[in-house]
Amino acid sequence: MSAYETLALFIDGTWRTKGREGKFETVTNPATEQPLGRLPHASPADLDEALAAAAKGFATWRAMPAYDRARIMKRGADLVRERAPAMARILTMEQGKPLAEALGEVNTSADILEWYAEEGRRAYGRIIPGRSPGSRQMVVREPVGPVAAFTPWNFPVLTPMRKIGGALAAGCSIILKASEETPGSAVALARVLADAGLPAGVFNLVFGVPARVSEHLIASPVIRKITFTGSTAVGKLLARQAADGMKRATMELGGHGPVIVFDDVDAEKVAKLTVGGKFRNAGQVCISPTRFFVHEAVFDRFVDSFATAAAGLKIGNGLEDGVQMGPLANPRRLEAMEGFVKDAAERGARIVTGGKRIGNQGYFFAPTVIAEPPRDARVMNEEPFGPLAPVVRFRTFEEVVARANELPYGLAAYAFTGSTSRATAIADALESGMVGVNNLAVSLPESPFGGVKESGYGHEGGAEGLDAYLVSKFVAQAPAL
Ligand code: NAD
Repeated sequence: MSAYETLALFIDGTWRTKGREGKFETVTNPATEQPLGRLPHASPADLDEALAAAAKGFATWRAMPAYDRARIMKRGADLVRERAPAMARILTMEQGKPLAEALGEVNTSADILEWYAEEGRRAYGRIIPGRSPGSRQMVVREPVGPVAAFTPWNFPVLTPMRKIGGALAAGCSIILKASEETPGSAVALARVLADAGLPAGVFNLVFGVPARVSEHLIASPVIRKITFTGSTAVGKLLARQAADGMKRATMELGGHGPVIVFDDVDAEKVAKLTVGGKFRNAGQVCISPTRFFVHEAVFDRFVDSFATAAAGLKIGNGLEDGVQMGPLANPRRLEAMEGFVKDAAERGARIVTGGKRIGNQGYFFAPTVIAEPPRDARVMNEEPFGPLAPVVRFRTFEEVVARANELPYGLAAYAFTGSTSRATAIADALESGMVGVNNLAVSLPESPFGGVKESGYGHEGGAEGLDAYLVSKFVAQAPAL
């Protein structure tokens, strides 16, 4: 039985188990509601030291050739793989997801770091033909500068790694404020980076009162780029603060992913596949399949199969064998689920399965299927971020496209069809940063991940993910006078 992490701040290559003001908060296991550890908060003085370290770390890291940076990052990826079983346990203890899912997340994070290590060696510029003999016109790509990154609690290893990977590959230093509810995973990541040989100050980890930390870091002239994953409301707040300093920003915000099931597919097979996707991480995923639109010809069959599979999932402490869905990550989600279900039922929807909290210790909520909630039900408009699957019927292609696109979100969308022409037509019609056709795998290290509309701007992953941390410099060079 491995232990939980020793929680600490990591500033300028040094661990601090206590911030300068001596403030702490308790971290709780969502499956047992038992305390896991005491998390130190960074005081303004600690944050200023992290900023100074990031400025110094940036000078060191940007001067190191991309080839050497890549070697350190690859060593980091190997260390993550080596430590994956222990890191996954820490993740499950503090966040709740089943151990197998946590292990998958940690291993994918190693892939992300390795992929960025390679991609950092391809930060190519270009030569533009000169206007006069002997002249060169060059575009060089440079790191944007020290980065302030803010990450949430639902993917406490993977989301930080996306930001760390992109920033390090480009030659940037980074201050990460990871979620205070899942800090052990971020501390384990910091240990990996330190042990891989990352120079002091290049990566710094802080915790505190989120709004105070973000305000302090974003206002600092040291920080040149902000990257945030979380809710649209907080994203808008941070984007405004970034605009005040004319700082670049990447915003990975909420979603409300439509899933369109046409009548030319095996509805039972689609139901089985999408149950796996819907209840992964208890639905606390920004690209979760969320609003199910099912053609009326296959609606009843789909709902029956989906509800049967959902009701058959094994729910429990993620550390136990065979558990397929863990608790929600915090009591706020539990309250939110109860509110969504009550509202839908009051408006005439049918709760086919679930709809309730399970037990009274741990934040467990039953996988829930809500048939035919009306258009104005809250669950059809606000991101549920939990194990709820509202399912409604549709008749025509035009009608379902209009429904799928009617919300201000545009992160992930999914469609299932047996027709190639319909697959192309629906992928073209959906207003979404990512579209999965006949599958749910839209998040890979090598592919761009990001939203449109109020789901945010910018990308992580793919060539775009490196681009997010680079700026272009034009050099016009003429022969000596
Ligand atoms: P929240 O909106 O208060 O927090 C979301 C995240 O942002 C948390 O990690 C929090 O620590 C951080 N945060 C909050 N205020 C901040 C600030 N001023 N500066 C920097 N970081 C800040 O609420 P919550 O209860 O944690 O989550 C509620 C909703 O957030 C969910 O319903 C979901 O819609 C969204 N969410 C989205 C993602 C995602 O992956 N896009 C992840 C977590 C939560």
